[in-house]
Amino acid sequence: TCRPSALVLPPGSVIGILGGGQLARMTAIAAAQLGYKTHIFCPESDPSATHVSTYFTKSNYNNYSALDSFAKQVDVVTYEFENIMVEPVEYLTTKVAVFPDPKILKTCQDRVMEKTFIQSLDIPTAKFQSVESFEGLKSAIEKIGYPAILKSNTMGYDGKGQVKLTDSVDLEQAWKKVTSETSASKAILEQYIEFESEASVIVARGLDGSELTFPLVTNKHRNHILRQTIAPAQLPESLHRQAREIGNKIARSNGLVGVLAVELFVVKNQTTGDYQLLVNELAPRPHNSGHWTIEGCVTSQFEQLIRCVCGLPLGSVDLMKRITEEEYIQQQLPPIVMTNLLGAEVNSWEKTLQTKGSHLHIYAKGDAREGRKMGHITQLP
Ligand code: ADP
Ligand code: MG
Repeated sequence: TCRPSALVLPPGSVIGILGGGQLARMTAIAAAQLGYKTHIFCPESDPSATHVSTYFTKSNYNNYSALDSFAKQVDVVTYEFENIMVEPVEYLTTKVAVFPDPKILKTCQDRVMEKTFIQSLDIPTAKFQSVESFEGLKSAIEKIGYPAILKSNTMGYDGKGQVKLTDSVDLEQAWKKVTSETSASKAILEQYIEFESEASVIVARGLDGSELTFPLVTNKHRNHILRQTIAPAQLPESLHRQAREIGNKIARSNGLVGVLAVELFVVKNQTTGDYQLLVNELAPRPHNSGHWTIEGCVTSQFEQLIRCVCGLPLGSVDLMKRITEEEYIQQQLPPIVMTNLLGAEVNSWEKTLQTKGSHLHIYAKGDAREGRKMGHITQLP
C-alpha cells in the first residue's frame, strides 16, 4: 500500500513532542538533521529538550487551552513517555495527527491490558493475575505460586511500585508498598521468571504500513535502572528471528505508526536447552536500549520515529558498515556497547573523549542526582 503524497510532511514542518527529557531531546536533534522544527510541550522549567528545539510551551498536560494553541502550531504530535495522561493526548487527536495512536498508549499504561493484548497475539508472557484488593492478592498467589512479582498496574517505571514475593514476605506490607509508591489502586501479580538475560527489540512502522525491527539487544540493569546495552545480542540466530516476528506482530496488530520497544526475557528450557522469548512490557516510544542506534545503525531509532510520523519511508536498520543483523551474528563481530552515565558518572566525560570508538552524549539535565540518567556512551568496536 502506498500512502498519498499529500500526507507527507516536508522538511520545515513542525513536530510537536509531549515531554522534554532526553528522549525528546534526541528526537529533536534527529528532526533538526532532516530539516524539521520541533515544539516541546511539558510542565518543567528549562527541560533539556528545549536546548535543541525550536519552540517550547511550558504547561501542564491537562491545560486544554494550552493544548489548543499547541495543536495550531504543530503539524503532527508524538510523545516521549508512556505515563502521560491519556485524555489530553486523545483530545489532541481531534485537532492534529498524533502518533502513536493514544489507544496504544492506553494499552501500554495498564500492565493487565498490555499482557492480555500480547497473549491474544499468541506471544508468550509470564503467567499473571489481575489484583484489585488485598483479598484478591491472596487468591492470585494460590494461582501463580511463589516466587512472584507484585507490580502496580499503572504508573510504574524503573522498578518503582514492585515487590518480589516469596513465602517469607509479608503480603499486607507488600500490598501497601506497591499501592502507595505509585498511588495506583490495582496491581498485577506475575510469575517470577528465572531468565538467562533481558533483551529488547524496537520495531518501527510507517504510515504506509511498512515495518522494520532494529537488531535484538541484551540489557543489563542495576537497581532496576538500565546500565548497559549489548548490540546485537550475542544470542542464537533463532532468537533474533523470534524477536523480529514478535515486534512485527505487535506493531501490525495495533496499527502502530512510530517506534515501539518490546522488553523481553530470554528463558532457557531446562530440559530441552532451547531458548525462548517472553514479552515483559511495551513502550510506544524510543527506548533507552535503542540509544546505540545513533552511531550503530544506518538510521537511529530517533530518526526512524521522525520518518514514521512525517510519512517518510523507513530508513535502513542495517548495522554500521551496512552489515545486516544476520551477517553480524554469523561473522561473530564484537558487539556495540551502550553504557548509561548515571548521576555523577557524567563528570567523567573527558576520559570518554579520549577513548577510540567512543561516542559521548550528555543530556544537559542539570542536577546530577544519584541514579539519574545524565548521558550515555556508545562504544563502537
Ligand atoms: P518497569 O516499568 O519498572 O520497567 P518492568 O516490568 O520492566 O517494570 O520490571 C522491571 C524489572 O524487574 C525488569 O526489567 C526485570 O528485571 C524485573 N522483572 C519484572 N517482571 C519480572 C518477572 N515477572 N520475573 C522476573 N523479573 C521481573
Ligand atoms: Mg521495564
